[in-house]
Amino acid sequence: MPRSASTAERITPEAGAGFPDEVDVAIVGSGPAGAAYARTLSELAPHLRLAVFEAGPLISDPPGTHVKNIVDSGERARAQRASEGPRPLVEAVSTDTMDGYASDRPRLQRPGTFLLSEGRQGSGEDGLPAAAMSSNVGGMGAHWTGACPRPGDSEVIAFLPELSTWLAEAERLLHVSAEVLADAPFADEVRKRLSVALDHDRVGDRQVQPMPMAVHRTPDGRLLWCGADTVFGDVTRANPRFSLHAEALVTQVLLTEGGPNGRAVRGLRIRDRRTDTDHEVAARYVVVAGDSLRTPQLLYASGVRPAALGRYLNDQPQVVYAVRMRDLPDRTLVADDGVGVTASSGVAWVPFTDAHPYHGQVMQLDASPVPLADDDLKPGSVVGLGWFCAKELRAEDRVAFRDDDTDGYGMPAMDLHYRLTEADHAAVDGARTEILRAAAALGEPLDDTPPLLFPAGASLHYQGTVRMGTADDGTSVCDPNSQVWGVSGLFVAGNGVIPTATACNPTLTSVALAVAGARGIAAAES
Ligand code: FAD
Repeated sequence: MPRSASTAERITPEAGAGFPDEVDVAIVGSGPAGAAYARTLSELAPHLRLAVFEAGPLISDPPGTHVKNIVDSGERARAQRASEGPRPLVEAVSTDTMDGYASDRPRLQRPGTFLLSEGRQGSGEDGLPAAAMSSNVGGMGAHWTGACPRPGDSEVIAFLPELSTWLAEAERLLHVSAEVLADAPFADEVRKRLSVALDHDRVGDRQVQPMPMAVHRTPDGRLLWCGADTVFGDVTRANPRFSLHAEALVTQVLLTEGGPNGRAVRGLRIRDRRTDTDHEVAARYVVVAGDSLRTPQLLYASGVRPAALGRYLNDQPQVVYAVRMRDLPDRTLVADDGVGVTASSGVAWVPFTDAHPYHGQVMQLDASPVPLADDDLKPGSVVGLGWFCAKELRAEDRVAFRDDDTDGYGMPAMDLHYRLTEADHAAVDGARTEILRAAAALGEPLDDTPPLLFPAGASLHYQGTVRMGTADDGTSVCDPNSQVWGVSGLFVAGNGVIPTATACNPTLTSVALAVAGARGIAAAES
């Protein structure tokens, strides 16, 4: 991926020194959703002054690059650790490992992420013990797997007729490809076996297929994981009216009070974390793309508190299992790099349907979160299965904020209120049945452990907290263009905007909604 010196130079070199006094569009958060606003506006409205403010540090170059693309393992571990927020949970242990991922520990922490230090579980509630965030330029998009399926059936946001056009644009921005890992060792065999068992009542794009991945193969055969750097793209990096500011925590969206059309944004208050000094930046539009927990947090801290703020929080309960494939065809396995089979692996997709309301992700080799058997194995023959469920949506499931306590950033402390309903438990049981069916088609279990339900929050797919709706009726935070009801110029972005109960990985959809919001701003400003 080409390096852009100009953007690196435009990352604030010294504390506060590089903050602009005034921009047209200020974007909070530099993950894929925030980056999609910067990219779309750079393409469609290059006359606008844009700035992205990111609470976390710059960890890779070009800004937002996935840590997997950092070749040196020590540097990669440092980048992951630097992403783990102001109070890393485990100080002494290297996080450049997946150890513990599949253990039965009640909380699991993925490299590059950090957990809530408190407030993850209300008394007598299920809570979200594994709820996690990342704080770094690129957000979680610098640590993700890159699976980018399109939503289907009831996952689709029915009131957005242009959604499929925006999804196609999101696929372009994220460099999504269904082919890039499709020829991994035995990936075709995985798909064939799954298809025979599961495709009888599936049609068209809901049949078993290679997972669309935000992964890119370079001309010399190397795999690069795409993230916010890909979304920003050269267009944004070359845009002289764009700047990106790391370690810039936005503490408040500044508003004009009560004009004839309600409130409007006028800018941001930003804490420069390098000097602990506060700055104000004027802006005509503000896009809050700070993840599903911190976007409502910033709105709350700014006095923007619509009834649905933080509510309808939903995570995707995730059941996992592992099998070993037998009777594989005899093949000579040739590596991408000619020296051995690479760690790159196939990912097959069993799409969500209303009849089978689970999103199945079937991963080979080390991409699996399940520890591999250590005996003599053909590469690609151990397969990890993950079945994600769609949660029943309820206003009671929510992130709430405290007025008398703060988190590690000095922002209002969070309390998660979350329960799995009877319907959710039934869905998890259904996922267990389905995963065993898929597993039986593929091979034999690695051991006699039954399918494991990960602790709530482990999906890392939190949605609904700033959800989109068609009317300002108390059940949504923003309109179909992602603009917050009653606050002119204030937009929200990220998985929290998704109003439907989805089981599929949400980032593609969030980026699609960000594209739509940015196109709306560009159209208004043209
Ligand atoms: P984020 O990427 O979380 O970025 C938000 C950014 O906003 C953060 O950098 C944060 O520091 C910043 N921020 C927050 N508050 C403030 C503030 N007040 N001021 C300034 N900055 C702020 N998703 C998929 O779809 N497919 C997958 O295969 C997948 N796999 C994953 C695997 C792992 C290990 C992880 C960690 C995540 C995975 N995800 C996956 C989830 C995916 O990474 C997220 O859905 C995606 O990154 C969300 O993008 P975002 O821009 O909305 O938020």
